Amino acid sequence: MTDLGATIRAEFPLFSKDIDGHPIVYLDTAATAQKPRTVIDAMTTFYEQENANVKRGMHVLAERSTEAFEAARTRVQKFLHAKTAREIIFTKNCTESINLVARSWGEKNLRKGDVVLLSLLEHHSNIVPWLQLKEKIGIGVEWIGIEDDGMLKMDDAKKIFKQGKVKFLSLTCVSNVLGIKTPTTELTKLAHAHGALVLLDAAQLAPHAPIDVQALDCDFLAFSGHKVYGPTGIGVLYGKEKFLEAMPPFLGGGTMIQEVFTDRFTPSHLPEKFEAGTPPIAEAVGLHAAIDFLEGIGWEKIQKYEQTLLAYALKKLSEIDELIILGPKDPECIASCISFICTTGTPTSYKLQATSSIHPHDLTEYCGRKGVCLRAGHHCAQPLHHSLGHPATTRMSFGIYTTKEEIDQTCTIIREAIEFFTASNLA
Ligand code: PMP
Repeated sequence: MTDLGATIRAEFPLFSKDIDGHPIVYLDTAATAQKPRTVIDAMTTFYEQENANVKRGMHVLAERSTEAFEAARTRVQKFLHAKTAREIIFTKNCTESINLVARSWGEKNLRKGDVVLLSLLEHHSNIVPWLQLKEKIGIGVEWIGIEDDGMLKMDDAKKIFKQGKVKFLSLTCVSNVLGIKTPTTELTKLAHAHGALVLLDAAQLAPHAPIDVQALDCDFLAFSGHKVYGPTGIGVLYGKEKFLEAMPPFLGGGTMIQEVFTDRFTPSHLPEKFEAGTPPIAEAVGLHAAIDFLEGIGWEKIQKYEQTLLAYALKKLSEIDELIILGPKDPECIASCISFICTTGTPTSYKLQATSSIHPHDLTEYCGRKGVCLRAGHHCAQPLHHSLGHPATTRMSFGIYTTKEEIDQTCTIIREAIEFFTASNLA
């Protein structure tokens, strides 16, 4: 098989740089992806040749920028297989998209005692907005638990739905810590069968697999531009038109209105109703280029390559005796990332933190000094870490530019770190 990572890397300018003389080994794509030249060029060209504010402009530049902005919306519509471009709202990021739904749909439709169902795999972006509603209007927040390896306990979900109080399921498609792919289709069907709506957090799915919102039948779906090789500062909210139509605006300001008087206003139509103020215009152009780039490679090729990488990394990491890999070991169950802890004792179970472990921050910082970019901490998923029994983990995450050589190099440096901390008795 041709090594996709090795060829595609040439299209990412950052990889021609080094970190203090070390080649950059970037295994932090789950936090943000690096940007291909086409994305950077598209944004530069926009600023150099077309820049103007969008909508209501009566000059050529405003027309061009509005066209570019709306072309990006249509591109996202096709990317998600949404029915119409009116169902695509540009936000600041995935977090803002989820907040929009919690505030606008949630405050209008939820009452004290209603339940929003989450899973223990969620990122804080898909937890805190619902906890804010719990504080504000007294909704209940319930959780689908996890097995020892992090897989969702489907029986929990079934039991909670049976109680008849769940009005909304908000679920990640892929865990940003364990990489687990959740059973989105099955849970969406279950939610709908119990009269609940569904939001899917696709932040970690969108860079790794095609998405068809009509096939998924989700009511809302959110993702961030920067994780799909696009720029920061832009996110997407997909919503079924009938629900978005019935929802009140989230933020107020310019663009989202039809008329404003001293005592009232009338909101604009979709999608402007949810896009108050100057939107991320150049970022939309960049996102358009990123989606073209990704789909230009082809999902089949991307998925096949990333699965090979995952299988390879799981094998290589498991050869390091001191590492305890969290999550399932079957690469078919996961996408994009692997988290682990490091112990100098004999690992027995990943639930038991060995007494003489090397702190994930120490291990990750050691690797960082050698040009290997991993990430340590709770990865904005504290309830998951509480449940696993570890306050922090080290995460390795992949992109289309990752190579097997980088994984080898990382494993060598992890071994070196273990030796260093053990020899200096710092473990
Ligand atoms: N959900 C998941 C699963 C994520 O991994 C992240 C980012 N790490 C987010 C939501 C939030 O994305 P952003 O910070 O771009 O809003």
